[in-house]
Amino acid sequence: MQRFDNLIAGIKTPPASGQWIPSLDPYRNENWCEIPDSNGADVDAAVAAARSAFTGPAWRGLSATARGALLRRLGGLVADNAQRLAEIEVRDNGKLLSEMLAQLRHIPQWFYYYGGLADKIEGAVLPIDQPDHFVYTTWEPLGVVAAITAWNSPLLLLTWKLAPGLAAGNTFVVKPSEFSSASTLAFAELFQDAGFPPGVINVVCGTGQGVGAPLVAHRDVAKVAFTGSDATGRAINRTVAGDLKHVTLELGGKSPNIVFADADLDAAAAGVASGIFAAAGQTCMAGSRLLVQREIHDAFLDKICALASTIRLGDPSAPDTQMGPLANAPQYSKVLGCIDDAVNEGATLACGGRAHHDASGGLFVQPTIFRDVDHASRLAQREIFGPVLAVIPFDTDDEALALANGTDYGLGAGLWTRDMARVFRFTQGLQAGTVWVNTYRALGFMAPFGGMKASGLGRESGQEMIKLYLQSKTVWINNATQPPGNPFVMRLG
Ligand code: NAD
Repeated sequence: MQRFDNLIAGIKTPPASGQWIPSLDPYRNENWCEIPDSNGADVDAAVAAARSAFTGPAWRGLSATARGALLRRLGGLVADNAQRLAEIEVRDNGKLLSEMLAQLRHIPQWFYYYGGLADKIEGAVLPIDQPDHFVYTTWEPLGVVAAITAWNSPLLLLTWKLAPGLAAGNTFVVKPSEFSSASTLAFAELFQDAGFPPGVINVVCGTGQGVGAPLVAHRDVAKVAFTGSDATGRAINRTVAGDLKHVTLELGGKSPNIVFADADLDAAAAGVASGIFAAAGQTCMAGSRLLVQREIHDAFLDKICALASTIRLGDPSAPDTQMGPLANAPQYSKVLGCIDDAVNEGATLACGGRAHHDASGGLFVQPTIFRDVDHASRLAQREIFGPVLAVIPFDTDDEALALANGTDYGLGAGLWTRDMARVFRFTQGLQAGTVWVNTYRALGFMAPFGGMKASGLGRESGQEMIKLYLQSKTVWINNATQPPGNPFVMRLG
């Protein structure tokens, strides 16, 4: 079985514990590689390497233009290695090769975009109202950033942190999910090939408690950039609040797709199905609640169930497969448990609802739809992170908006209608970081993404988000020829 090491200061380094964690191929339901089971000693070594790279001349001495060139070179290397990296991700998390390849082919765009932005971060000369002073601002990097990621799209989620963070001049310690670390380790090697100095990117693998917690608490970490569940995000936020560190949290969701009777119903049905069944529902932006206007409820439900029943489950690497397995054994048990809870609480199954077994032994769950769901129930309120849709009818626009906003989360929302006045009302009223109108699950490197309420803090992608990896400094230069005034009075004018 292939065994991976950590990457610390540019050197492949076995874990201090001498222990490894097996990583599961969820389609074949067998372990396929081992990743380091690291601990606080590995974290200390990686943070020290990142700190030393941050202050050292090889990185600190690079101009922003030269940093940008490195990022663009890296983007080219990712493009060249897209197929290989996508295949590793599929082995580790069971998502479709077509989906992971589409992500890998687009990831270079983030490095090109932020590589181009690196030397366009400008301070300002301020027209200060004190004639004897010259005052200007600059933007400086924060220091060592801890990037902690979830298992569902390891390299895309990491890219959203690395591209702006490196363009800004920071260095990184990366902690991928213990369920899907292999692609991150293979990806990190490309940074060295691109010419990044050793220690700028370090990777330490292991569990949340063994590696994540000491990394977040480390005194030399200046910022935590996290993607994962809201439970872990809240724990991280408590730690960083105590330490006054910078933080970005990309957390879960319970996003609604709202379908009105005047919508293009075939397009809406395709969007709703893609929202919840793509990636077997294991996406933060899964459209896991369908709010549908009562007059079309039954016909629309029939459409969605018909679509769900034709979804081809199977080998995630086969081109005609539409849904792969769930990514790991705990997630598989959790999703089946949520379905059982919903049935026991009296929810009505419209289709699916069981594990799907085939010769592979893979961890499949049927596309599952519950109808007439009580919006106060756990089925409608908690994130399941699987192919499970809760359908809820509504009558009026106000009721639809109240239901859409009626969870703790606020990551995304889909709106399906042809009524432009309604589009404006809903895009203003929806409490969601992203609103998709007559589309769903669209993303881009120039478009900020992130959550309101329990779905997170901060955003990723887009020009402005590079500022989340920078801090401003104001410089006052006194050029007066006269002696200073009263030293006991603040100089305000
Ligand atoms: P998770 O919170 O269990 O784990 C995420 C990462 O945090 C892992 O690397 C884990 O090892 C680490 N971790 C766990 N405990 C920690 C601790 N105490 N301190 C520091 N690190 C710790 O989440 P998951 O199950 O891997 O991922 C699924 C979740 O991620 C879902 O809630 C999903 O919605 C969310 N997600 C959000 C986005 C987004 O952009 N908003 C994208 C993808 C996934």
